[in-house]
Amino acid sequence: MTDRKTPEHAPIAQFQSADGELLIGGQPLSRLAARVGRTPFYAYDRRLLDARVATLRAALPASIKLHYAMKANPMPALVCHMARLVDGIDVASAGELMVALDAGANPQEISFAGPGKTDAELRQAVAAGIMVNIESPREVPILDAASAELGLPARVSVRVNPDFELKASGMKMGGGPKQFGVDAEAVPELLQAIGRAGLAFEGFHLFAGSQNLRPEAIVEAQRKCFDLALRLAEHAPSPVRFLNLGGGFGIPYFPGEQPLDLAPIGDNLATIVAEAADKLPDAEIVLELGRYFVGEAGIYVARVLDRKISRGQTFLVTDGGLHHHLSASGNFGQVIRKNYPVAIGNRMTPPDGVEPASVVGPLCTPLDLLGDKMPLGHAQEGDLVVVFQSGAYGASASPQRFLGHPEVVEVLV
Ligand SMILES: *Cc1c(COP(=O)(O)O)cnc(C)c1O
Repeated sequence: MTDRKTPEHAPIAQFQSADGELLIGGQPLSRLAARVGRTPFYAYDRRLLDARVATLRAALPASIKLHYAMKANPMPALVCHMARLVDGIDVASAGELMVALDAGANPQEISFAGPGKTDAELRQAVAAGIMVNIESPREVPILDAASAELGLPARVSVRVNPDFELKASGMKMGGGPKQFGVDAEAVPELLQAIGRAGLAFEGFHLFAGSQNLRPEAIVEAQRKCFDLALRLAEHAPSPVRFLNLGGGFGIPYFPGEQPLDLAPIGDNLATIVAEAADKLPDAEIVLELGRYFVGEAGIYVARVLDRKISRGQTFLVTDGGLHHHLSASGNFGQVIRKNYPVAIGNRMTPPDGVEPASVVGPLCTPLDLLGDKMPLGHAQEGDLVVVFQSGAYGASASPQRFLGHPEVVEVLV
């Protein structure tokens, strides 16, 4: 009954099922739903987080430091788990800084980026002893004043807006005119100002984009970022001790997409590490990743409230929707809406095959669509719809107040 022309999602390999039920952290989904006590909810599997970090470490040179960019998923328990697995946490607000510190992350290994840091946030960063990635000359005198007042040197890096663009798909966040970072050509002057102010200069932060599935594009970006950092290092007031080459590693969401091949990235970084040993001997090289660490470890679960047939088309109306999972609805940066992988979590091996069905939410807008005419097991009221690849940019990236439905629950299993 599946439309043969509709491309299929790659199978979700990270989750197993047993007796027709999806397993999360070894537990059948219906039991997990019972223990959570209500739907909808997000569940994140800590063993998958462990496995992902281990896979990355095995594929990359041992000296590469891994930072978790917590905006991808700021759930406190998950940040706590990640803080023990990775080498540092990247925050993008004082609110995230609070969560990272509560999670036990070492302030020495926390960095703070973002184009609109308030004076108060910069002062909090200095007081916490974390590193600020400077994105504007405006931040220098504010950090200087906070340093003087608190008697603590502000630790800073410069976030550079590169003079090249990432060729690949995905969200571009560097090159051309951007609100992020300082244009590469303006960095030498900023470095002088940092030196004059006596801030503790540590290095550079270059972040070229997000959700990239093409290893050759990531390799090229890392090479160009490294070369740019070498050029800028000649203007630095002190040796570079920190070089953040960004991340942008993507995960497969849509039909036809394949997991990122880490091998060429590892080889390229090995070359960069060897060159850095000679040219930037004091520098630790950091990658900052959000989605790649957490995206595949999470699912979103909603319950079917109604099975409606409209003019021959099946709609599964659920208690969850775009107010919890804007990304899966296609309204978080997608140009053309595509389906995330979706399944009926308590009918993983449907005995009576699949049928095309659309999964919608309770909101009064046609945008509230979690799956458009997908092949799904014959779902009934009470069944559990699962949206995979939902560990990143989920709950915190969704308009939860829209229409006044209850907030989503999150659990780490
Ligand atoms: C959003 C962001 C990240 C994380 O991006 P992912 O695609 O989730 O890996 C990393 N660094 C910076 C500066 C960001 O803004």
